Amino acid sequence: MKTKLSLLYGGKSAEHKVSLQTAKAVIQALDPAKYEIQPIFITTEGQWIKGPLLNGPVETVKELEFSEGDAVAPNALAVALTNTDSDSDVIFPLLHGPNGEDGTVQGMLELLNLPYVGNGVLASAAGMDKVIMKNLFAQAGLEQVKYVWFVRQTWKQNPENAYSEVEEALGYPCFVKPANLGSSVGISKCTNRDELAQAFEEAFQFDRKIIIEEGVTAREIEIGVMGNDAPECSVAGEIVPKKDFYDYKAKYEDGDTALIIPADIDDETYSAMKDMAVDAYKALDNSGLVRADFFLTKEGRILINEVNTMPGFTPFSMFPLLWKHTGVEYPELIEKLVALAKERHEDKQ
Ligand code: ADP
Ligand code: MG
Ligand code: MG
Repeated sequence: MKTKLSLLYGGKSAEHKVSLQTAKAVIQALDPAKYEIQPIFITTEGQWIKGPLLNGPVETVKELEFSEGDAVAPNALAVALTNTDSDSDVIFPLLHGPNGEDGTVQGMLELLNLPYVGNGVLASAAGMDKVIMKNLFAQAGLEQVKYVWFVRQTWKQNPENAYSEVEEALGYPCFVKPANLGSSVGISKCTNRDELAQAFEEAFQFDRKIIIEEGVTAREIEIGVMGNDAPECSVAGEIVPKKDFYDYKAKYEDGDTALIIPADIDDETYSAMKDMAVDAYKALDNSGLVRADFFLTKEGRILINEVNTMPGFTPFSMFPLLWKHTGVEYPELIEKLVALAKERHEDKQ
């Protein structure tokens, strides 16, 4: 029997367009003999639209941007999704950032008792909040940059206090980030108090909580991790941004950031990174997949920066490319993730 794979894509986040590209690529890669594809498009306004069943690839993303059809709110979607005659259905959320990668969609799918690709509620939520994530990494003994954090209320009461605290704890340069975002949105590098004040204003526009980190000069190395209770690692890759840092534009618009795979690092460093990636995976109780991102300093210090629970997933994104170089092509990668989703679902029962 075919597996019905429901793809959730689009969404309200900054990665709406990227998500559409991902959906198109995933559809292209699926074997129509094995999969029935149910597209579910989330508009930029947050409306969920269930499209017609597809039996093969689409030519352009336009065909996936439905304007009419069964418009379903997430709670009505429950009925739409579970209204099925197959018990081998799997949901694949191809969404990044808040309302996609942060445990909210995952929570809905848990309520519906449906198997879904990727991380569960807790891991998704913990991975989205940089403060919680770093606290868990610290508890697992993983080396990382120094950080402090503030909520908007505390800052508003006494901004100068907050800035002094940052200067004492971290000094300059430092990085100011909204706690709950991705894609470098709202992130600034600061080299003095004026910039720090501006960066706080900016980051607080996106979140009620922000994190400030000591800035390091380092190479950026990433590893793909995949699995449930026995996670496996891909080869390492390096990101070489042409800009000062890997900001939103460099990620999605310029396209001139070089990805070097495999990264030119020695075996010892790679091996230590793999161990850290697996420790991080366990610390956050990840399942399915993550991309673990590291800083590697000139002195050879390895610091974990973050894990991304739904990393960029077009065939040209780092995560799929890392696995390709490890011997897992894109269609097989998708099959593995679907199998992991089913495995975890069965494990839970
Ligand atoms: P996101 O989740 O949005 O990708 P990151 O924490 O990975 O946020 O930060 C985005 C980019 O900013 C990184 O890839 C790196 O280039 C730069 N950066 C972030 N934090 C630091 C830091 N503490 N020191 C140096 N560079 C940093
Ligand atoms: Mg991130
Ligand atoms: Mg990042």
